[in-house]
Amino acid sequence: MTERRIIGDPAIVQEETLAQKKCGKRIGVVPTMGALHKGHLELIRRAKAECDFVVVTVFVNPVQFAPTEDLQKYPRTPEQDWELLKPMNVDIVFMPTEKEIYLAGYDTYVETGELSKRFEGKTRPAHFRGVATIVLKLMNIASPDAAFFGQKDYQQFCVVRKMAADLNLPVEIVACPTVREPDGLAMSSRNRYLSLEERKQAAAIPQSLKVAQNMRNAGVADAKEMRKNIQAVLETSPLAEIDYIAIADPLTLEEISVIPSMPQNLLSQQRGMRLLVPENPTPRAVVLLAVRFGKTRLIDNCLLY
Ligand code: AMP
Repeated sequence: MTERRIIGDPAIVQEETLAQKKCGKRIGVVPTMGALHKGHLELIRRAKAECDFVVVTVFVNPVQFAPTEDLQKYPRTPEQDWELLKPMNVDIVFMPTEKEIYLAGYDTYVETGELSKRFEGKTRPAHFRGVATIVLKLMNIASPDAAFFGQKDYQQFCVVRKMAADLNLPVEIVACPTVREPDGLAMSSRNRYLSLEERKQAAAIPQSLKVAQNMRNAGVADAKEMRKNIQAVLETSPLAEIDYIAIADPLTLEEISVIPSMPQNLLSQQRGMRLLVPENPTPRAVVLLAVRFGKTRLIDNCLLY
């Protein structure tokens, strides 16, 4: 891979993006950990549609993995990633090594707050600290006007958006809809770990979210009842081990017992916070879940309007 657009050195990316910015270009960044799939490509498409100069990063960030997690095993497919990226014609593919990102003696981290302690944070206590740290570094390296994230990792999107607001980052944090397989399973680099049987049964996840949406459409406001029905659908898969099912405020991620008929707060209208779906801009709640199939832990979510 000796293509001119692949850069590993953060200083070169910084120089190039600053020069583009000076020329008035709108810079977009799409952070990924590689093992790319159609979900990632959608983020890139959106970034290209909205920006003049697009940087895609491919970096498996060790700082967001606990020692017991799957860092070593995490799929690394740089050649295939490049094959997918080539036709996308992005301006820079930033593929640094660990040493290029975390220089010897590296010792500075972003401390995230309450948002990062729930749900994923309970199972993965240092995860969002690692995510926030690498995202802030990428922002400083590429000076983006907009950064594109998937709704698939909804809590991550919330934590990053909060960091951007709290730390006055001059960047718009954009969430893009989850891209799914034909049976509804959210695309994920981790799906490849599933056995055939696990993969088949994992379709219960989107089915359970559909039930939540149908209940909402039928006017159900009782979160406990909704949770019970989601659980019942998941339990139709003998291999599913439920980690959590939560119905929460879409901005604060605090769990709620009643799904409100009006949006609870207008925080999302603050500057720099693009609403998730422009044509349907006021989600009342978010359903978040994590389910294990064998050794693979899958997360998914849906917004309720
Ligand atoms: P990852 O490589 O898993 O760290 O993901 C990089 C970005 O792609 C994150 O913002 C994810 O939320 C997003 N992403 C992952 N899977 C999907 C998907 N199925 N649809 C949309 N975005 C996704």
